[in-house]
Amino acid sequence: MHYTLRCLGCNTSLAEPDDQHLLTCPNDESHPAEEHTWRKSHPPALLRADYSSGSFTPHNDVVGLFRYQDWLPIRAASADRVADANVGTVAYQARKLGASVGLERLVVLFNGFWPARGARLAACSFKELEARVVVARCAAAGAALVVASAGNTGRAFHQVCSEYDIPAVIVVPERALPYMWGVGHNSAAVKLVAVTGNADYYDAIQAAELIAQLPGHRAEGGARNVARRDGMGASFLAGMELSGELPAHYFQAVGSGTGAIAAWEMAVRLVRDGRFGPHVPHLQLAQNDPFTIMTDAWQARTRELPRLSSADAKRQIDTIKAHVLSNRHPPYAVTGGLFDALSASGGSMYAVTNREAEEATRLFRRVEGCDLDPAAAVALASLQQAIAAGAIQRGELVFLNVTGGGYKQLRQRLQVEPLTVDVNLDVDQLRTGEAAVTIEDTLSGGRTPSRMETA
Ligand SMILES: *Cc1c(COP(=O)(O)O)cnc(C)c1O
Repeated sequence: MHYTLRCLGCNTSLAEPDDQHLLTCPNDESHPAEEHTWRKSHPPALLRADYSSGSFTPHNDVVGLFRYQDWLPIRAASADRVADANVGTVAYQARKLGASVGLERLVVLFNGFWPARGARLAACSFKELEARVVVARCAAAGAALVVASAGNTGRAFHQVCSEYDIPAVIVVPERALPYMWGVGHNSAAVKLVAVTGNADYYDAIQAAELIAQLPGHRAEGGARNVARRDGMGASFLAGMELSGELPAHYFQAVGSGTGAIAAWEMAVRLVRDGRFGPHVPHLQLAQNDPFTIMTDAWQARTRELPRLSSADAKRQIDTIKAHVLSNRHPPYAVTGGLFDALSASGGSMYAVTNREAEEATRLFRRVEGCDLDPAAAVALASLQQAIAAGAIQRGELVFLNVTGGGYKQLRQRLQVEPLTVDVNLDVDQLRTGEAAVTIEDTLSGGRTPSRMETA
């Protein structure tokens, strides 16, 4: 094994077992209860992968994401099935866009579908990177991966798991169904669950937690899954291959903050390598106004997210165009999470209105010639805000993570089909025992005895 897992809460180093993927250290108070032999001694903390290779060495014989395999937590048995994908982030120096916003050294990390630039992520966002690396870590264990999503993650896992017939259950709120489409083969091994009744992403997360308790199912884990983070971090590595130097600033729109934590963790490894510069970049992160819980908390320099009633949160989430930026319970306060990443990098957070994001979309289309995911437009608009505020110097190296885009070109070139829902769950059923019955009847054909408890 070329990696071990280190708990950022107690510094314990753990070996990955063969038959499962670890999500938390057993000392973590949020670790599942079965292992009560351990003393739960610290608040929730992320694990981080420690790689045996301390130097950034892309494999030049591999095209795409898996050229960074030395710094990805993939396992031979799983990776053999899925690591043939020659897709990844396309990093390029955006001279025209840079000139229009007033920067001399702007690097775009493009994640999406833009064949003229060599970008071929069929799910059109950087979630496809995480899906591929998660599957390359977790598929060999055989359990169905249960993944909750606000849309883009679900589409990416559906795409990747279908491609390789890997069992998975994708759980989304009904409002995300317009974003659940795919190109190509739709595997029967992959099930789609929609949570209905004004449900949001957090309701989908709760439904996914119930489903993950079914026999033969396992929670993918979200931000706690090191494969998810390092898969997203591959975007940053693509930029590093181009620039050969750590940027001064890293711009990205955040929903959970997982992608930004991932970029920071890769930057920490690169600083340790020693050849790329002594400092991690300032994380420059944006949310879509009015849903700006992390922006508000960071601007007040508090680890505590604002308390927002579920009704207020849903109203705000209905307003924003970048619906993927709508996580109500992001890994912000957790040790090793976004608060720590912002603190360690001297970061900033921005609030971007729908209108500013729409203007940024038009700018990118006019200057670069590709459409953007609304979240990527939020990131570009925040870059413009930062420049207007004098926070960025003209000559500084800046990475802009264009986390999604190219939907128009994808639809022009490939057959795009809506995905069919296998199970509808009402959000009210989640609070009663009924959800368990509905899920089990549909997903296991009613054959497996229930181990689930009612909440
Ligand atoms: C998920 C997503 C984001 C936000 O990423 P997080 O890791 O949740 O912060 C930004 N842009 C796009 C296109 C996404 O799909």
